[in-house]
Amino acid sequence: MANFKRKIAQIKLLRKIFESRGQISYNCDKCTHCTLCEKTCPVNAITVSRKDKNWTIDNNVCVRCTHCVAKCPTKALSLKKNI
Ligand code: SF4
Ligand code: SF4
Repeated sequence: MANFKRKIAQIKLLRKIFESRGQISYNCDKCTHCTLCEKTCPVNAITVSRKDKNWTIDNNVCVRCTHCVAKCPTKALSLKKNI
């Protein structure tokens, strides 16, 4: 039980660290729905629908690694730092 509580505390701490980095910002005007960001995300936080021209991110899953930002060919993504 102590191990379980420790794990939960570690996960909460990691979440705080990720959140302190900011959030991924999305510019729909620049997005071509190519799905490269979805494919490159190591934790499957991004979902892109070419058909519906839709892009979503789960900020509770995103670890702010910025791989998607680096991969996006149209610069539609950026890391918006917390003020
Ligand atoms: S990589 Fe960029 S252009 Fe492609 S779907 Fe993602 S945000 Fe849109
Ligand atoms: S910052 Fe990293 S974890 Fe978050 S959506 Fe982009 S690739 Fe996925």
